[in-house]
Amino acid sequence: MIATLEYVYRKFDEYNRLMFDNKLPFIPIVMSSALTFVGRCEYRRQRTLSGKVRYCDFRLRINNRIDMAEDELDDIIIHEMIHYYIAVNGIADTSSHGHVFRQMMDEINARYGRHITISHLSTPQQRNQAMAGKRPTYKVIAVVSMADGKQGIKVLPRVLETILNYYNTVSGNDKVRDVKLYMSDDKLFDHYPKSGALRVYPLDAETIKTHLADAEKLKCDGKSIKFDDN
Ligand SMILES: [Zn+2]
Repeated sequence: MIATLEYVYRKFDEYNRLMFDNKLPFIPIVMSSALTFVGRCEYRRQRTLSGKVRYCDFRLRINNRIDMAEDELDDIIIHEMIHYYIAVNGIADTSSHGHVFRQMMDEINARYGRHITISHLSTPQQRNQAMAGKRPTYKVIAVVSMADGKQGIKVLPRVLETILNYYNTVSGNDKVRDVKLYMSDDKLFDHYPKSGALRVYPLDAETIKTHLADAEKLKCDGKSIKFDDN
C-alpha cells in the first residue's frame, strides 16, 4: 500500500494509545516522495538560556512513493514514534539508534509481535520499483556555510573522487565553516551547472532548507560517503 496522510495520522493515534500510553503530543505529519528513506522524525535542537539542550519543531516525514505492505509501513511509523518519544522527553541516548532506542524497539517487537528494525532506508528493490517509469534525476548538492554566516550551494556530478575533492578542498578553506552533502531531485538545482569546479553559488539559507526538505543527507568523512541513516 501507499501511505496517505489520513492513514498515518490514524495509525499514529492508534499506536500512541496502545504503545506509548497516549503520551506523545500531536505532531505534524508530512508526506515525502524521497526514494532512499522511508521515514524520518525531524526536529530542531535549541539551547536554552541556562545552556540546556531542548528539541522543538517536531515533524514526521513518511514516504508515500514506495509501495509497502501494511505491516512494513506500520513498523516504520512506530520506528519514528520511538525517535519522537526519546526526543520529546529529552532522553539521552548513546546514538540515534542507541541503547534506549533499541530497548524500546525490542520491547515493542516482543510485546506486540512487530518487526521494527533500525533502518530507515528503502530496499534496492523498493527503490527500483518506485523508479520504474520516470527516473528521477538525483543530484549531489553541497551546501557550503561560510564563516561569516552566509550560505551557498554547488551541484556536483555523482563521481566519488570529484565529490571528495570538492568536499575536502572547500572544507579546508579558511572562509568556510562547513560543507554538508545531500542527494536531491529538486528542480531548483537543475538551474545550476553540474561540475567539480571549486565554486560556491550564494543562496539564502531559507531557500536551501525549503528545497532540501525531501533530500537525503549524506555523511562524509573526507574519504567515503554514505547515507546518513537517522
Ligand atoms: Zn531511526
